[in-house]
Amino acid sequence: MHSQAEMIQLSLNFRKRFPFYHNATPMVYLDSAATTQKLDKVVSAVHDFSSKRNASVHRGAYPLANAATKEYERARNEVAHLISANEASEIVFTSGATESINLIANGLDKAQLNGNKILICESEHHANILPWQALAKRLGMQISILKLDRCRRSGLVFTETTFQRWLSQIDDDTAILACAHVSNVLGVIYPVPSLCEQASRVGALSVIDGTQAVAHMLVNVQHIGCDFYVFSGHKMYAPTGVGVCWGKYERLEALSPSKLGGEMVSKVSFSGYTAQPPPLKFEAGTPNILGVIGLREAARFIRENTQDIQAHETQLLGYTLAKLKALSINCFSYSSVRSDERAEHSHIGIISFVPIDVDSDALAHSLYAKDIALRYGQHCAMPLVDALGMKACLRISLACYNTQADIDQFVDALERAINELKSLANSDQLEPQDAENAWEQHLKDANNWSEKHRQLLLLSKQLPSLPNALRNKDSEVHGCEAQVWLKKQGDTLCAHSDSKTVRGILAVLLLKHQALASADRKRFDYSQYLRELGLENYFSAGRKDGIRNIINRLEQGA
Ligand code: PMP
Repeated sequence: MHSQAEMIQLSLNFRKRFPFYHNATPMVYLDSAATTQKLDKVVSAVHDFSSKRNASVHRGAYPLANAATKEYERARNEVAHLISANEASEIVFTSGATESINLIANGLDKAQLNGNKILICESEHHANILPWQALAKRLGMQISILKLDRCRRSGLVFTETTFQRWLSQIDDDTAILACAHVSNVLGVIYPVPSLCEQASRVGALSVIDGTQAVAHMLVNVQHIGCDFYVFSGHKMYAPTGVGVCWGKYERLEALSPSKLGGEMVSKVSFSGYTAQPPPLKFEAGTPNILGVIGLREAARFIRENTQDIQAHETQLLGYTLAKLKALSINCFSYSSVRSDERAEHSHIGIISFVPIDVDSDALAHSLYAKDIALRYGQHCAMPLVDALGMKACLRISLACYNTQADIDQFVDALERAINELKSLANSDQLEPQDAENAWEQHLKDANNWSEKHRQLLLLSKQLPSLPNALRNKDSEVHGCEAQVWLKKQGDTLCAHSDSKTVRGILAVLLLKHQALASADRKRFDYSQYLRELGLENYFSAGRKDGIRNIINRLEQGA
């Protein structure tokens, strides 16, 4: 057990190891489940290799190339050590978890599988759903879902009952079990050792997505007992574009390589090829050498600090939850989750939540404007977010470099944002209402996102609203990361969205449309107009696509 003072010192020691924090930044980074900041040794190893020792691997025989190959293979040893693999040759370097799961799914055939059912957990990331759907289609198999339990207070829960049900679903007809070690939305650590034991009992392959686990807890693939374990470097303090597919050696041997090319072969002729043994058989083409060199340092750092990382993040998670509870934020991810007796902790530092009485989308934008980096959306887990009965939710995710001061700053910003949004909702005047189209000038004059967003929210109340009965497939506009409906009613374009921020954008576009002479409407450049108002930079790529769709409808007269 560490004292409070020791924990604070621990977090400060971790923070010092991340160059991102060396330059004073007002940013509170709480989006490590999307990607982590990079460790000092990762940055310097990548820099040193590039500037002093760069050569390709597994090819040249001159000393520089041999040394590069040795370094690259040392990384394989380090990663094997991190997850307690039997041997380094069980570590395949990929571009990330997504490629790893595709590599497995694309490499399987009927001969390697017992049964006809692919079991996928309800909370999986799309990367652990789509490749299995494609495999099911290719081999004529069935997808079956391991569902969470419904709970009125907190949405979805994983309880002892859920666990028993899942075990009974892993039956003789199960060919594959695909499950995350830790959910990227709920932060729940699933009892993968027990699930994999059952899978092995019925002769099913188990594929565990460890993307959200490796940086935060002890991972031991022997203890888990899975057949495959995958993860991404960029979520464990290493560079982007590198990841790992660990497999039991005999499983890797049976798997067909889906990526073909140089270095994965021992013999090639125009009539065919002989593949190298694993892992090289899966590493066609020049690999991401720099990524692998960086990954080596990250793996070593995590291995040497696992206990402290886990202790610090668990303490910080408890601190965060207590503060959120005091704010009465409805955190659906925290509930009667079964605590697995074999896992020391039942959650990692991921908290997804929707606030009560406040528009979630507007809250997210308001927090961005207050220098809080968090994620709002569906987190590439649409089936889960749908099952929760929401369009999207906010998510904060912690890593070893986060401190209590970060959480204090976040909670303070959250409280201020909620209060601001509530008071805005209660004021129904555009302010100051001095002239027609004054809102246009107010938007232009607002010199930061916080102020522009506030103007958008005020403006959202001026949107000619589309009646409920007309919000249907015909009037729906896709994209925007929110639901949007747009339709002409008489001479007026009317619209609605479940997001207040998007209602504000719709109001801008529709009020402008209305103000233009009808001959000018088709020619008007709405995208340029949004740029002139200084709004463009504040939308995500997804939302920009949706806005483009709205503009297309406007140009067609909706
Ligand atoms: N699985 C999980 C649980 C994830 O959180 C992510 C990334 N958000 C992925 C898979 C995909 O990782 P990548 O995009 O690095 O391939």
